[in-house]
Amino acid sequence: MYNKAYMVPNPMTPNQAIFISPEFCNGCNTCVDVCRSDVLVPNPEKGKPPIVMYPDECWFGGCCVAHCPVPGAIRMEHPLNQRAGWKRKETGEYFRVGMKNPPPPNTRPPVG
Ligand code: SF4
Ligand code: SF4
Repeated sequence: MYNKAYMVPNPMTPNQAIFISPEFCNGCNTCVDVCRSDVLVPNPEKGKPPIVMYPDECWFGGCCVAHCPVPGAIRMEHPLNQRAGWKRKETGEYFRVGMKNPPPPNTRPPVG
């Protein structure tokens, strides 16, 4: 009897963290080597882009992007909840979660 074992990438939840562009990536696997969470694994086909095997374990530190020798080959997207922002209607100022100088707390009484 002949048995085979397969590895299948985890689902992209809550969002896709790492994007590798096959047209630029040269398959050097530097990103695989530097990732401390082992999110990426080498492609079984030499020279092909690594596989994002465990996207849900990404810590969004960006080491893979910082060490990639090919500009545009890999990019990281922060989770949706960290990309949230808000805009002050009166001035058009844009604020992000975690910013250094957040606006002062809202002193208006609650509605109702
Ligand atoms: S480091 Fe960049 S070029 Fe090398 S395998 Fe990763 S994405 Fe591709
Ligand atoms: S951002 Fe960090 S944890 Fe996520 S794949 Fe890149 S090196 Fe790994």
